[in-house]
Amino acid sequence: MSETNVATELEAKLGYKKANFYEKADEATIKAAYDYAPGYMAYLDAAKTEREAVTVSIAMAEKEGYVPYTFGMPLQVGGKYYYNNRGRNLYLFRVGSEPIDKGIRIVASHVDVPRIDVKQCPLYEDGGMAFFKTHYYGGIRKYQWVTIPLALHGVVVKQDGTVIDVCIGEDPADPVIYINDLLPHLAKDQSAKPLGSAIPAEGLNLLMGSRPYPGCEGGNAIRLNVLALLNEKYGITEEDFLSADLSAVPAGKARDVGLDRSLIGAYGHDDRVCAYPSITALFGTDDSVHTAMVILADKEEIGSEGNTGMQSELLTDLISEITTALGGHFATVKANSKCLSSDVTACFDPNFAEVYERRNSSLINCGVAMSKYTGHGGKSGTNDAPAEFVAWIRKILADANVVWQAGELGKADQGGGGTVAKFIAKHNIETVDLGVPVIAMHAPYEIISKADLYTAHQAFEAFFKA
Ligand code: MN
Ligand code: MN
Repeated sequence: MSETNVATELEAKLGYKKANFYEKADEATIKAAYDYAPGYMAYLDAAKTEREAVTVSIAMAEKEGYVPYTFGMPLQVGGKYYYNNRGRNLYLFRVGSEPIDKGIRIVASHVDVPRIDVKQCPLYEDGGMAFFKTHYYGGIRKYQWVTIPLALHGVVVKQDGTVIDVCIGEDPADPVIYINDLLPHLAKDQSAKPLGSAIPAEGLNLLMGSRPYPGCEGGNAIRLNVLALLNEKYGITEEDFLSADLSAVPAGKARDVGLDRSLIGAYGHDDRVCAYPSITALFGTDDSVHTAMVILADKEEIGSEGNTGMQSELLTDLISEITTALGGHFATVKANSKCLSSDVTACFDPNFAEVYERRNSSLINCGVAMSKYTGHGGKSGTNDAPAEFVAWIRKILADANVVWQAGELGKADQGGGGTVAKFIAKHNIETVDLGVPVIAMHAPYEIISKADLYTAHQAFEAFFKA
């Protein structure tokens, strides 16, 4: 044997190199990955807000035999339940045959997405146009949200409690709304500004119309016409905006991207690209002996706050109720529970190579990415998963032949981010981040790979089963 061959063999034996899905997977698995994508894309199109995601996910769960859960309800082995928290946060769980003291297998993702929220007193008229004032939600780059077609989604709740669902701009026959930007010919001053301040928050005003109400005297005819149209369609008045959750989101559907159709472009991959496979994995593992839970959280993009965010005590209330119903011990159940915090991470992008640390970045098509830690600077604000738990996950992914990779967000001092992981781990639950790499995260149209999406489904199935 030549010296070169000896070195090659030794490298293969001792070295580690992440695998590319298309090099490792067989034809049938590659086909399965492509076949999995349309279901996810339909989910994306139907679920642009956390409320819509909860509604669609409940419909999917009911088809699989999941029934509504209320506190104190008796639970059966093999029973499938869902807890709908205020229409914005969903818990799905299935009772396994092993004792509950063995713990719960949890996959937690979030279904809120960065967007442009409508303010409480939104409507005004200026320069012959009517606008809505907005307040952005989550970490958006404001310059990306101007001059694109937007749709209005959400609810208006009338004083008597009537909830009115609003959706304008998704049906091809609908009008869309829009945020104006400056023409280049007059953008000398704006173009010299840093990217982050070129479009100020109070410049994100939604263009709602320009036609005056017939016969209306004075300066508010266009505003009045918008109110009249809303009243005609939804029966609402201006005062009803005081109690509304209305958001502008990019209009339109998820699309295949690339001539090989290997990628998907859509609004809201973060974090539906983890939420959807967690649901399909739960449905695909009915034979598991473990009690399994899928959490679709709200408000992750603003710090997991509020009673629908992952910092809410609802998680421990539910675990406590499940434990009591099944005759277990609360502290033991938590101590033996395991959680995949399934949230997206940044995919290495050669167009911006300088912000990534190549050796530790997630690469496209190299599978679902495990982030042992997230956070800022010196691991500030992270649940740094212990090596023992990471090793346990490694084993189940290896046994199930899942293509996966380790992936850190980017260069340590370049920025950072967090997930729901630390809010679950603090309850003495073993937790690590495992999610799909995304290109242009938080942009109105983000990119993910079909291969990486499918490996997330495979990984979550392996986790529920192992
Ligand atoms: Mn996320
Ligand atoms: Mn995010």
